[in-house]
Amino acid sequence: MTLNICHLYPDLMDTYGDKGNTVTFQKRCRWRGIDVKVANISVGQPLSNFDFDFYFFGGGQDKAQTIVGIDLQKKKRHLETAVNNGAVLLSICGGYQLLQKYFKTKTGEIIKGIGLFDAFTVGSDERMIQNLLVEINSELEQDIKDSYQTTDYRLSTTNLIGFENHSGKTYLGKNVQPLGRVIKGAGNSGEDKTEGAVYKNAFGCYLHGSLLPKNPHFADYLIVKSLERRYGKVKLKPLNDEIEWLAHKSAIDRTRSQT
Ligand code: GLN
Repeated sequence: MTLNICHLYPDLMDTYGDKGNTVTFQKRCRWRGIDVKVANISVGQPLSNFDFDFYFFGGGQDKAQTIVGIDLQKKKRHLETAVNNGAVLLSICGGYQLLQKYFKTKTGEIIKGIGLFDAFTVGSDERMIQNLLVEINSELEQDIKDSYQTTDYRLSTTNLIGFENHSGKTYLGKNVQPLGRVIKGAGNSGEDKTEGAVYKNAFGCYLHGSLLPKNPHFADYLIVKSLERRYGKVKLKPLNDEIEWLAHKSAIDRTRSQT
């Protein structure tokens, strides 16, 4: 089995170790004998000749978002069609904001997004910078439990842990579900306890850090969804990921103990 990954704008949108997400995705596939091909696609490079299974789009500064926002309009149709046909997408922070309707920066500049997520973001004077602990939305919870195969570790939690650093406040519309509920941290806006967005197999969130290395259940969930689109129902081989779970737990313990 082979999966094709697209890393969107890795030269412009890749903060706080976001690349670790694609590394984790690849490693967890290869450890199971699943071949992975990664393509870096940036400004001026069309998506139209490809059929990717998984798209990754990391975070970036407002300035990079202005450049990327313009180019992304040319990729809008392809991304919409891909996601509507079941492709998997993970976006973090700045990438997540550009997949929404728009991002209005603190200086009043409107950076047009592609509206994949029914949401918008407005720059604020508040910098939301801290660890972010999230309880995953209940619709996804069972799906994640079914996807992640344990060795001797029972999957005791489907929570996600990461690190957020943004001043943009995101507000969700009616046609999108939040990824989860904030336990600790700010999340989308710091106002309504929602974090992230889900539309089909496209996910947006503020979880840098990187997200997937220390959330192995979510990494496997994205792998399963990517494989299923191409190959039908699959069951992943379990991996010994004790170290990943220790990282997950220690990040959560540290976050819970912070006031
Ligand atoms: N510029 C955006 C904000 O501050 C995104 C930052 C990021 O990707 N870390 O809201």
